[in-house]
Amino acid sequence: MERTFSIVKPDAVKAGNTGAILSRIEKAGFRIVALRMRHLTRAEAEGFYHVHAARPFFGDLCTFMSSGPCVTMVLERDNAIAHLRDIMGATNPANAAAGTIRKDFAASIEANAIHGSDAPETAKFEIGYFFAGLETR
Ligand code: ATP
Ligand code: MG
Repeated sequence: MERTFSIVKPDAVKAGNTGAILSRIEKAGFRIVALRMRHLTRAEAEGFYHVHAARPFFGDLCTFMSSGPCVTMVLERDNAIAHLRDIMGATNPANAAAGTIRKDFAASIEANAIHGSDAPETAKFEIGYFFAGLETR
């Protein structure tokens, strides 16, 4: 069993797609370990995405991520990190495969409906960032 961290991003919450996305995640065999809706402050968004601080899109990304409520969660299944990335689809929904969450719910490369950790080290950081204590089990 492996844990990963995910966010239903503000665009998807605003569009009323939270339930549909959670349903896809559960149907894909993930157990929801922890879940909380929150409206991130800009500082929280900046800390969460600190690895992208030098990227040209960083300012807009942090504005977007703090623009409305999002749903943060810890998910568990075998091969959770890679499997969640599979069902999310490519970062740019224009390149996302049919049947993926981003293909069906994302509007743009920025407002792309869902976040998923990309590696064990980032999953550990991201779980601990929002759900202190759950990164070690
Ligand atoms: P995430 O980390 O949110 O799961 P990802 O791993 O697919 O997405 P990253 O490269 O980590 O993609 O980028 C983080 C987020 O920054 C993207 O999900 C998207 O919201 C935004 N982003 C990435 N590239 C761009 C870009 N070229 N223009 C605008 N926003 C971008
Ligand atoms: Mg990423």
